[in-house]
Amino acid sequence: MKRLLLTFLIATALTVSPKAQDCRTVKSVETVSVEVPAGNAPRLPYRLWVEYSDGKGEYRQVRWLNASEATEAAEANPEMNPPGTAYKVRGFITGDNSTPNGYPVSAQVRVVEGAFTAPSNIPVAETLPIDQVRLEGSNRLTSNCQLDIDRLISLPVKQQLYNYRDTYGLPTEGYPEADGWDSPTTKLKGHGSGHYMSALAFAFASCQDPNKKDILRSNIKTMVNELRHCQELTFVWDDRLGRYWEARDFAPEEELKQMKGTWADFDRFKKDCRKYGYGYLNAIPAQHCALIEMYRAYNNEDWVWAPYYSVHKQLAGLIDIATYIDDKEVAAKALLTAKDMGLWVWNRLHYRTFVKSDGTQQERRAKPGNRHEMWNMYIAGEVGGMAESLSRLAEMTGTHEEKARLAEAANYFDSPAFFDPLARNIDAIRTRHANQHIPMVTGALRSFRNNNNPYYYNVAQNFWSMVQGRYRYAMGGVGNGEMFRQPYSQITSMCMNVTSWGGRDLHPEPTINETCCAYNLAKLTKDLNCFNPDDARYMDYYERVLYNQIVGSLNPTRYATVYQYAVGLDASKPWGNETPQSTCCGGTGAENHVKYQEAAYFVTNPAAEGNKEEPAIWVALYLPTTAYWKDMGVVVKQECQWPAEKSTIRIQQSPSALNAQFPAKFTMKLRVPYWATEGFDVKLNGRSIARHFQPSSYVEIPSRQWSEDDVVEVIMPFTKHIDFGPDKMEQSPAYEKGGKTEYAPLWTGAFMYGPLVMAATGIKSWDEATVDVAPDLSNITAKPMADYLNNGKDSSFFTLFTASGSPEAEAEKLKTLAFLPDYDGDKHLTHYFRMNLPTPPTASTASVPNGSPVDKSQLRELLLIAQSRIREQKAWDALTTKVPEYAPWAKNGYQRMEALYDDCRKHMDAPEGKYSQEEIDKVAGRLNIAINTMRPGNLPELEDMDELMQLLEKAKELPSDNAKANRAIGYATMVVRYVSDGSGTKDMIERATRQLKEVITEKHKEHQHK
Ligand SMILES: [Zn+2]
Repeated sequence: MKRLLLTFLIATALTVSPKAQDCRTVKSVETVSVEVPAGNAPRLPYRLWVEYSDGKGEYRQVRWLNASEATEAAEANPEMNPPGTAYKVRGFITGDNSTPNGYPVSAQVRVVEGAFTAPSNIPVAETLPIDQVRLEGSNRLTSNCQLDIDRLISLPVKQQLYNYRDTYGLPTEGYPEADGWDSPTTKLKGHGSGHYMSALAFAFASCQDPNKKDILRSNIKTMVNELRHCQELTFVWDDRLGRYWEARDFAPEEELKQMKGTWADFDRFKKDCRKYGYGYLNAIPAQHCALIEMYRAYNNEDWVWAPYYSVHKQLAGLIDIATYIDDKEVAAKALLTAKDMGLWVWNRLHYRTFVKSDGTQQERRAKPGNRHEMWNMYIAGEVGGMAESLSRLAEMTGTHEEKARLAEAANYFDSPAFFDPLARNIDAIRTRHANQHIPMVTGALRSFRNNNNPYYYNVAQNFWSMVQGRYRYAMGGVGNGEMFRQPYSQITSMCMNVTSWGGRDLHPEPTINETCCAYNLAKLTKDLNCFNPDDARYMDYYERVLYNQIVGSLNPTRYATVYQYAVGLDASKPWGNETPQSTCCGGTGAENHVKYQEAAYFVTNPAAEGNKEEPAIWVALYLPTTAYWKDMGVVVKQECQWPAEKSTIRIQQSPSALNAQFPAKFTMKLRVPYWATEGFDVKLNGRSIARHFQPSSYVEIPSRQWSEDDVVEVIMPFTKHIDFGPDKMEQSPAYEKGGKTEYAPLWTGAFMYGPLVMAATGIKSWDEATVDVAPDLSNITAKPMADYLNNGKDSSFFTLFTASGSPEAEAEKLKTLAFLPDYDGDKHLTHYFRMNLPTPPTASTASVPNGSPVDKSQLRELLLIAQSRIREQKAWDALTTKVPEYAPWAKNGYQRMEALYDDCRKHMDAPEGKYSQEEIDKVAGRLNIAINTMRPGNLPELEDMDELMQLLEKAKELPSDNAKANRAIGYATMVVRYVSDGSGTKDMIERATRQLKEVITEKHKEHQHK
């Protein structure tokens, strides 16, 4: 398709290295000196301001060498580092060839008394809500929003109610069966209906068409009325107790111990909804929530999927409806329904659960209901944003006592195993399931508004910073499959992600960065920004994830979204997930595109101290919008394209606020994006308001009387820069027998143009993705973004020539690559490039500490990780009773790592000069890959599917009209995909294998009869 080509062009001669003498080099880097309260790991900046020899400057990512668990634990050990101690942490600016690891930097850390502080629990600022901000114009944002609204309207509301009627014993005639992950045979039922309700609420808030708004309103009303009707069936008076039958009365301990979650049991449970306990509302019976108290595993046919995950979606849906519906009665009913379910959760967890964090796992699980164990279970313990919804409920409704209970219930979802280290700034993210944990953090932050305990704020703040430095990709997403891998390993992790089949690596599998993670990270960022709205790092990130991954995750021509975003080499967006119930990402996908404007503006919160006198508005995103600021009675109008390099802002009196004082007096703060390193300007009535604008800050127009004649212009030419990954690309799996697996280690990064990740098409291998880049990017020429938007998107506006026209480059046949903004891309996109950067003339081994000519720091870090894993596994091996699913590491990956360990140790301990830098890097690279591809013991590995794959090949030879065989093949194919992604389970493999064997045997018998 022509439209996709020629927007960002690279012409590169692959054999020519840029000349060192004419290159831009790092002149200086800001110094880092931090204080850390004893008992915590230091908060080191994930980026540093770098000044270059040509006078320019920008923020660059840093990789700190303290990321191993052992190093962090030592830093946070107050015995080793009491107040008064000082130490240095080494690090490197990535994407620089001054040393093999980058440009060396160091941080001076001073240990002090005290604790990490937190801001006031009453946020300084709040967003202008979605229904007060209207997206304008004809652009990708408005067309995506329209697509989403139309899709939501097209879905039958009665289908969303099928499961509730079924679970509460009501007739289901006239209600189409739900499908996707809400289908009658999935135990996540209700998650989709919850997302559907949230999406309806946001769509209602964003929709401008009165007819469509009527349909949305009517569907919202139907949902709320029917859900309340189901819930009321649980209001059962008990004479013996002298009160209503409650959550705590449900499933006494003896019954709980016998309980199972099979489909036969499910059918039995649903006949007895009057036993669920007062207020229970969910599309699955209450037994599933209770089974978690018995530590029942995920996707085991006898047990559960993730019961509280779906409860959360439904609570959130009702709360979002209560927030945005204009019918007061419906809003009140939605809130009441959510509150009654919230109090059911409080009741159950208050009376029936506890926390015990010490002892062995066996000891911790001796009694049912230990929340330390419940929420630390893989997927079964996935609770979404339960804490967030319960906290919001406590803010919105209830008597004094009810509010206290809802707030208390929010913190029943604390995961001590995850939160405690995070509160001390220790990285507890590594190897965890990404989307299970991000919303827990969002919940912790929301609960801080009620509990005013800095612990929760610090969990959220530390988590967010860690993600920025150690885990995020250029588009803002995180995770490989559904998992966080090791810190600072995004590039290795991306390159090693492959589709395997029959013991062979077939092709790169760019399905990383789950949509749900982007959705939840955006929410966390928005919520953190409320507490620190002057810190532009938050909205810089929000812009990154919104403009790239979120906008790009909806097909612009027909409604389809993505589960995993496609990031990497030759990646095509895997469109699908066409309804809120289809998958988790179908759910967040349905919400994403009807709320783009949710964080465009922040305004001072009148409830916060001192704010009444000094109102202010933060223009956080440059989006074409009309915003109503009710408190001030003004309309803020922003005229621009999307994405915008220029925006014009005007203030008007709101027609609906005739009593408001006008002209209004307030401060306006405008974000200077991190990428706005050249040509940025803000003019008030034609005059620049400052001589210098610091990237990644807010520039302030001090408090003044605004009149309708005032014009604010923001000029922000997009600049070229590279978002370097933290690690080099040096290995890739062999896609063909004997194919290439080793590459010269090169820094790898994504080309950015302003906020946009640029992608190229037509690249098939990492060799083709190797490009020569001048460090000042002078071989890239760019035109304004507006040209791309206005000229049918087919003009070349971004071009890169190697070595700035050097004779060598011109003598070579230049290779031209076509680039376009990734949000606008679809098929065969490459985002990351191996960058052939010159070595600065100043580079010398003297910059390596201790004058050693060979830097082994990376190998040392990796050996520490390997050692701790070997220790864990050996301790488990020594146990007398072993439950295989609790093994720290799965067998094959562990063996791969163990096999490399001795050789790495030998390289580490060898005398100086025995091994070259290249040899050291090579063994370190291999060990890094082995570490990164290990899976926890509860998860199957690709090797565990050998039998399944052989059976699948056989089953495919069966006649295509065999319905049972087709079902078995369909399921098995899904299992192969899930296991490859990291979300499959051993139980699923067993079931798929059994089903395939059955159909193959049946066929065989049939054959014998004939
Ligand atoms: Zn998802």
